[in-house]
Amino acid sequence: MHGAVSLARLDGGQIRSDLLELLACPKCRAALMEDADGLRCTGCAATYDVKQGIPVLVPDDVNTVHLEEEHNLALMMKSREQLPEERFNLGQWSLSKREFWAMVRSVVNDSPPKRFVNIGCGFDPSCAEFERLGHTFVNLDLVFDMLAQLRSDCGAASCVNGDVNRIPLKAGAFDYVVSIDLIHHECERLPELLGSFRDLLKPKGILFLEDPNAWGLFQMAKSIFMPRFAYRSLRSAYHTLKRSTHRPADYEFPTNVWRVMALLRELGFENIRCYPHTAYPTVSERSYRMYRSLSGSEFVRKYHNYHYMLSAVRA
Ligand SMILES: [Zn+2]
Repeated sequence: MHGAVSLARLDGGQIRSDLLELLACPKCRAALMEDADGLRCTGCAATYDVKQGIPVLVPDDVNTVHLEEEHNLALMMKSREQLPEERFNLGQWSLSKREFWAMVRSVVNDSPPKRFVNIGCGFDPSCAEFERLGHTFVNLDLVFDMLAQLRSDCGAASCVNGDVNRIPLKAGAFDYVVSIDLIHHECERLPELLGSFRDLLKPKGILFLEDPNAWGLFQMAKSIFMPRFAYRSLRSAYHTLKRSTHRPADYEFPTNVWRVMALLRELGFENIRCYPHTAYPTVSERSYRMYRSLSGSEFVRKYHNYHYMLSAVRA
């Protein structure tokens, strides 16, 4: 499988055999093998490129509107300058990520080495820490440039370019599935998406999920009680007026923590646990002081933060 010819033709790097084993054809789910031009499906014979050591497993019929939006969002998120007015929020964003990964660390069993996948990873360098500990950590994203940068800046060994609607990874192969700020991008098809996360896990594998919370203290009036189309138009007008550096795409909508927990239960997850957040990344310092005064209650920090974060075990 690792003949000299195929390696020479894989444009800047071979795929590690442990990664190749984890890949599946996005069209028919069969295993992939290396051939002279990249990768070939052992089921439907579809062929896929490998660029800079990254398998490109985006299906031909990917939603190109989403692809373009995701590309722009990723660039925006990455290039937000440290404008003085953004400093407080950016600090809160990074605190919320630190809190998320602290939750993961508190649950993950370090030995023996485990398999992780971060679905819709964007530019999240956390993979490096887990790789250092000897785990396999797959970074999956629709935006190729994010992955190329993860490889060059953080040495990420296992990157896969693919679509969350057709996850090109082997079922039942992972100990941990990580999904951060992703599922609200596919809020119209939550049951299917969460079902596909479950399918990636081994029995007793754990899903770690974080997403903007429809029940967040400062967003629930809009996201729970206002019709979606009105919410979207208001949000769009607001970001235009404010000339925001980060403007959510139209198809994004906060997810409902209670509904997501109920869906996970229906999908066969157990031990579903929410964790408290202290960071509230989208409000002014003044509103944040109000949140702090209410967030003495763990309930508020778990269920009425901007994000909810949870772990759930596949039965
Ligand atoms: Zn196939």
